[in-house]
Amino acid sequence: RVVYCGGKFVSEHEARLGLFDRGFLFGDAVYEVTAVIGGKMIDNDLHLARLERSLSELAIPMPLPREEIEAIQLSLIEKNGLQEGTVYLQVSRGEEDREFLYSEGLKPTFIAFTQVKNLLNNKGQTQGLAITLVEDPRWERRDIKTVMLLGQVLAKRDAKAAGFDDVWFVEDGTITEGASSTAYIVTHDRRIITRPNSRAILPGCTRAALLDLCSRHGVVLEERPFTVAEALAAAEAFQTSATSLVTPVVRIGDVSLNGGVPGPVTRQLQACYLEHVNMLRAA
Ligand code: PLP
Repeated sequence: RVVYCGGKFVSEHEARLGLFDRGFLFGDAVYEVTAVIGGKMIDNDLHLARLERSLSELAIPMPLPREEIEAIQLSLIEKNGLQEGTVYLQVSRGEEDREFLYSEGLKPTFIAFTQVKNLLNNKGQTQGLAITLVEDPRWERRDIKTVMLLGQVLAKRDAKAAGFDDVWFVEDGTITEGASSTAYIVTHDRRIITRPNSRAILPGCTRAALLDLCSRHGVVLEERPFTVAEALAAAEAFQTSATSLVTPVVRIGDVSLNGGVPGPVTRQLQACYLEHVNMLRAA
């Protein structure tokens, strides 16, 4: 695989990062993941805008202008012949001797690589997921897409060990979001509910695209926190992310939703989102 590291395209075996990189030592870095379907990036403008925002919240400069980052992403897709999968970008504050306080004017470290992934035809897409709920283990700036993902790593490990496919986080009795996705429920009168953007959650790019699709199709979507009790009593549930698109959730803990199969509203939104993806592919 060809990756981007050290300002150039190199084989993954030749790529080298500095020992004193603050991304490695402090998790002082942010990232983005853009889906690639049919060789085309999906909603990459939203991802690059969020990258810029995450960096500005941490006072890390953009490593390159947006257009150059996009050109690198496109080259990686082409060089690796990627049809379906992801392009990953990471920017760290840069390298210097280990101190909590950082010097001004460090040169950010920028790396990028592609991954082959089956996004369209997998168990989650077709049958839906069983998820578990756990107390949100993360810090209070979840709106910044940092590489500090140990809370997610451990929660996903524990969920898998307990026989679940994924995990949603809970704070003060309400669902914040999935460990790597935005969480939604559908009420019995067919209203879709998701938490509003704030520092408590990552503002999902797929969420933004879906909200736009809903408003254009006249589908009612309410932005408000929802409780664990509401989730357990919901008619349907689903989650979204760049890599999972719209994925049905058919069980929460011991409680099956819609008889343990993806519900009609979720199926409709899945189809609607795939239509959006197909339009971007054709463009
Ligand atoms: N929330 C969290 C915590 C995530 O890690 C992700 C994606 O990885 C999302 C939400 C969904 O964001 P997006 O739709 O931009 O992939």
